[in-house]
Amino acid sequence: MSTNRPTVYKFGGASVRDAEAFRNLAQIVKLYGGERQLLIVVSAMGKTTNALELAIDLAYRQQDFAPAYQQTKSYHQEVLQGLFPESEHPVYQRMSHLFAEMHDMLRAIQPTYAYDKAYDQLVSYGELLSSTLLHHFLQEQGLACTWVDSRKYIQTDSTWREAKVDWPWTERLIGRDLPALLEQQIVVTQGFLGGTNDGHTTTLGREGSDFSAAIFAYALNAAAMYIWKDVEGLLNADPKHFADTVRYPTISYQETLEMAYYGASVIHPKTIKPLANKQIPLYVKSFLNPAGEGTKICECRFENIAPAYIIKENQCLVSFSVKDFTFISEKNLGTIFNALSELRLKINLMQNSAISFSICTDYHPERLQGLIQTLQDQFVIHYNTALTLYTVKNYDTASLGSILYQKEVLLEQRTRTTFQFVSR
Ligand code: ASP
Ligand code: MG
Repeated sequence: MSTNRPTVYKFGGASVRDAEAFRNLAQIVKLYGGERQLLIVVSAMGKTTNALELAIDLAYRQQDFAPAYQQTKSYHQEVLQGLFPESEHPVYQRMSHLFAEMHDMLRAIQPTYAYDKAYDQLVSYGELLSSTLLHHFLQEQGLACTWVDSRKYIQTDSTWREAKVDWPWTERLIGRDLPALLEQQIVVTQGFLGGTNDGHTTTLGREGSDFSAAIFAYALNAAAMYIWKDVEGLLNADPKHFADTVRYPTISYQETLEMAYYGASVIHPKTIKPLANKQIPLYVKSFLNPAGEGTKICECRFENIAPAYIIKENQCLVSFSVKDFTFISEKNLGTIFNALSELRLKINLMQNSAISFSICTDYHPERLQGLIQTLQDQFVIHYNTALTLYTVKNYDTASLGSILYQKEVLLEQRTRTTFQFVSR
């Protein structure tokens, strides 16, 4: 099917985890992307982002980062050699150059540097490396293909590690250059990355490549966006945690957005809005079974939808009580909310009682200490860590029975459609 509206493909880390995976990816592009204008957004290979986080951490603490760095380098070199037996190929030089830059940056890190800023400059190499490999490999496979630096297109502020997109500017830049390029060839670019107007690299938050793809899709008025994953589509639970999962063949933007919000790891929560705003359908498909139906996410409505089970781990339950046995007032709540927002602690669930107020939030040790320091004069603060937040969307009696079985519930909440509880 030929259309002059481009299609955006997003390939995550698992789809480029080794040479075999790259070959499979190229096959998908040839079979399913061949006839269309195609922009490919790619994540870092396998677990590279985690490995780079570790190296950055060590460099920061002035400890030996060499083994962590070397491991990432060897991993990429192995894939490189698996894909390009000809060691004279120009991709070798390009990759060496990226490694040298990364190594220099790691060496230059001082404990006095702003951590989050240095993090973004460095962790971005995961995507720079994978996209460089992919670009050269697709070319090698006879596909007309060009590499684009997403930091020059996705323009953001300097909220390091969670940068906010400057939409009008981003739309203008993408609209100015990419449609003409896409008429000629496949465009390969990086997920996760953005850039500031003074030339620094930013990142859009962990797992942010889905969001990157949606930004490109929005700005290009894409015909469709595809996320290629190692599961058959959007499932009602994570198969790592639940035995009998079902796939939604079609589901609404709204349902998907809510599932992502509650912590379903299948799609980055910010992905849906740009697509829904322009009614761009999102397909979630398996790169292991590309002929499979997958899931179509679009504007639609269904009455009976299978309950979705969502697990958010590493949660922390914090409760605040007023010191003098007075009630929690709106003024108290205002103080707590302000502190949470300053420290970028997101509330995943909250509950208010006469003399205490509790929140469930992702566990960030430094931010939690910051919160305690800020508020300990005014409140008695208790917290528990290593908890799990369970959400069942579109629950029924049977679904609750099975998920609650033998669990110690520390806090629970239910609406007409959604049941949530925090447990050890
Ligand atoms: N590579 C980044 C991460 O692992 C972004 C992504 O994969 O979407 O978080
Ligand atoms: Mg990833």
